[in-house]
Amino acid sequence: MSATIISGKEVSAQLRAQMAEEVRHIYEEGHGNKNFCPPGLAVIQVGQDPASSIYVSNKKKACEQVGIVSFGYALEETASQEELIDLIEELNHDPHVHGILCQLPLPAHIDEFSVICAIAPEKDVDGFHPVNKGLLAIGRECLVSCTPLGCLALLKNQGIQISGKRCVVIGRSNIVGKPVSQLMLAENATVTIAHSRTEDLPAVCREADILIAAIGKAGFVTKDFIKPGAVVIDVGINRGADGKVHGDVDFEGACEIASAITPVPGGVGPMTITMLLQNTLHAYRILTGRQ
Ligand code: NDP
Repeated sequence: MSATIISGKEVSAQLRAQMAEEVRHIYEEGHGNKNFCPPGLAVIQVGQDPASSIYVSNKKKACEQVGIVSFGYALEETASQEELIDLIEELNHDPHVHGILCQLPLPAHIDEFSVICAIAPEKDVDGFHPVNKGLLAIGRECLVSCTPLGCLALLKNQGIQISGKRCVVIGRSNIVGKPVSQLMLAENATVTIAHSRTEDLPAVCREADILIAAIGKAGFVTKDFIKPGAVVIDVGINRGADGKVHGDVDFEGACEIASAITPVPGGVGPMTITMLLQNTLHAYRILTGRQ
């Protein structure tokens, strides 16, 4: 079997074009209204970690692409937690800002959880605030983390049936494994969450109609983990000794047995920033009463 390649690049491009159209309408509607605020995303970076700088710059570019205003805040590496939280509180009350994102990781002297908790849940476009995590767990409307949302959007875009299917998620992190499992459950899949203590992982994975790998180990999921015809979503981003980015799935082997698979790069990766834009628009609609 030669698997269909699910292109996150293509799906992202379609979704971004739709969002650009929506933003264009928002501007048209707001034209002439002196109180009009277009959708705005505040992106805070503390320090100058090179990888974080690339992510922040990509997020700003993506905002520009769809017409969302981005506000960049660069704090010194030595900035105190209080300074950062003061800034977040200011942004929580700023009507021009509908989404707030604080690029992680933060310097060691700052407590990440306190910072996440300082962001107003309705502007928490990363979906990391415990209020949003709790709402997701009880199946209520909320802002959901971007990578899990991207996985779901890819499956839906491909018209892959989720309801009633067996889904195995490898990984139980708070940013990927747990929320993607909850999203799949909300879509009526029968979900198993596997992790490093799971016994006979390949056998558990072979039960899956939809297998989602979020482990952080290059090529870990071989074709022995995959039921013939299963759909494989590879969340992994692992920098190899060859300098290239590799997924958690052995792509070549998996292609022989899966019915559809996301590549790395070009699969889930591009969807993450697209979902950040989608979350910002979602927050905008709610904050401005457009829904
Ligand atoms: P974490 O390290 O937080 O979690 C990894 C999970 O994998 C843990 O639950 C761990 O189990 C499980 N695991 C590790 N080793 C094994 C094993 N041998 N067998 C079974 N399970 C195992 O990683 P993240 O969730 O943050 O990220 C996962 C991957 O996704 C990474 O490659 C990361 O770079 C990538 N990623 C990609 C994003 C994107 O935009 N595409 C965004 C975020 C992450 P246990 O809990 O028992 O330790």
